[in-house]
Amino acid sequence: MFEKEKNYSPNLEELKSHYRSVITLLGEDADREGLLKTPERVAKAMLNLTHGYRVDPHEVLLSAKFKEEYSQMVIVKDIDFFSLCEHHMLPFYGKAHVAYIPNGYITGLSKIARVVDIFSHRLQVQERMTLQIKQCIQDTLNPLGVMVVVEAKHMCMQMRGVEKQNSITTTSDFTGAFNQAKTREEFMNLIQHGSL
Ligand SMILES: [Zn+2]
Repeated sequence: MFEKEKNYSPNLEELKSHYRSVITLLGEDADREGLLKTPERVAKAMLNLTHGYRVDPHEVLLSAKFKEEYSQMVIVKDIDFFSLCEHHMLPFYGKAHVAYIPNGYITGLSKIARVVDIFSHRLQVQERMTLQIKQCIQDTLNPLGVMVVVEAKHMCMQMRGVEKQNSITTTSDFTGAFNQAKTREEFMNLIQHGSL
């Protein structure tokens, strides 16, 4: 089973004052007109981009867990996501594809997308996000197998010119029935498409 995640309520005022300091430390005048409301806007934006810390993805899946004998692969593909890399706090974004093979229980399709949304709205690395989505579905639905594929572009690579500007990073993780190459292939064939 999984551990229930603890709740944390961030302090907007404190965040604002820190972002004001950051602006000043960057050599800007935090009091000039265009920047006056920036600390508040950035603080609110960051709270939104990290709202995933304040939602328990397990509960989201359990809230729509239905008994069902269907035992073929269920696929939710092309789930758009936006996340922040934890090393630079710059965006990485792309698509997640999720498949699972039910073992007596299914969940609402929109809940799968919600789980991606929750884990992506945290400071992340793509590898861990992929694993967490997989594990959350495995732990709550106990399916015969789960597979998650994530394709993303990382602004920390693109903006800083570290690597090729248009490179796409792909990660995948799976459990159970997806240990069979044939099952993975079936999923991969179904999500084949062009670029992001
Ligand atoms: Zn980064």
